[in-house]
Amino acid sequence: MSQASVVNDVYQQPLAPIGESTRNPTRFACRVRDLQKTYVLKGETVRALRGVSFDVPEGDYVAIMGPSGSGKSTLLNLLGCLDTPSAGSLFLGDDDVAKMSDDQLAEIRSKRIGFVFQAYNLIQQLTVVENIQVPLFYQGKLGSSELKRCEELAMMVGLKGRLGHRPAQLSGGQQQRVAIARSLVNDPFFILADEPTGNLDSRTTEEILQLFKRLNDEGRTIILVTHEDEVSKRAKRVIRLKDGLLQSDVQNSYESRIAAAEHAIANLPPEIE
Ligand code: ADP
Repeated sequence: MSQASVVNDVYQQPLAPIGESTRNPTRFACRVRDLQKTYVLKGETVRALRGVSFDVPEGDYVAIMGPSGSGKSTLLNLLGCLDTPSAGSLFLGDDDVAKMSDDQLAEIRSKRIGFVFQAYNLIQQLTVVENIQVPLFYQGKLGSSELKRCEELAMMVGLKGRLGHRPAQLSGGQQQRVAIARSLVNDPFFILADEPTGNLDSRTTEEILQLFKRLNDEGRTIILVTHEDEVSKRAKRVIRLKDGLLQSDVQNSYESRIAAAEHAIANLPPEIE
């Protein structure tokens, strides 16, 4: 595949409808206010988040960065409703997650957040389309219209012709595409991605970043944690944490994002035939 075709590859698939809810840039995918998380371990108190505030408007694309121990995973767990804050508030849409019961958290987690992990977390025995269906399976929603939507999502992320493949028959990049399609099946508030390119080579990283860009251009909100500058430069905005506090919150200009993409593409290693 030539370098140009790497860039164009993800643009060749037909676009699937974005979902029922209309994206609105004046609405917020999430609002974080003075968010705090304290862990107590063997009598020792660790203030992992010490009061973090920011808003993520629908359609934003945020990279969260920071040194090890700065609170990134803690923030990701809170945004993903996998844990609850010690203080402060976290609004997803109009609901304050901090005030929700465990059942409500589980529901919002399965229905309104699209998780993408470094290790893909696919089910090996299931096909591409079946993996994308998994979040719907847990909700008992598996009619023919849902199956069609999963097939459309698979095609949208560039997996046409591989709908019946199992994860072991796919490359790492293709597996991550399945995970991204799965994350979209519920029309989530946002895609929450934890080091999504951490396992991928630079060429495949580029393909996934192109896919994220296209999804974001269509209006989908993306929040990802990364330690790679090359990945964060492609986001619209970079939030840096340090010692549990928000150190900086900076917009990347459109021009700088384009320049970062061009630089990455120009520096791709030659493809092995
Ligand atoms: P990062 O993802 O940026 O490396 P973390 O959010 O994992 O940072 O950790 C922030 C701080 O909270 C660290 O000091 C870490 O040791 C501590 N921490 C994280 N999770 C726990 C936990 N479950 N119990 C106790 N301390 C924790």
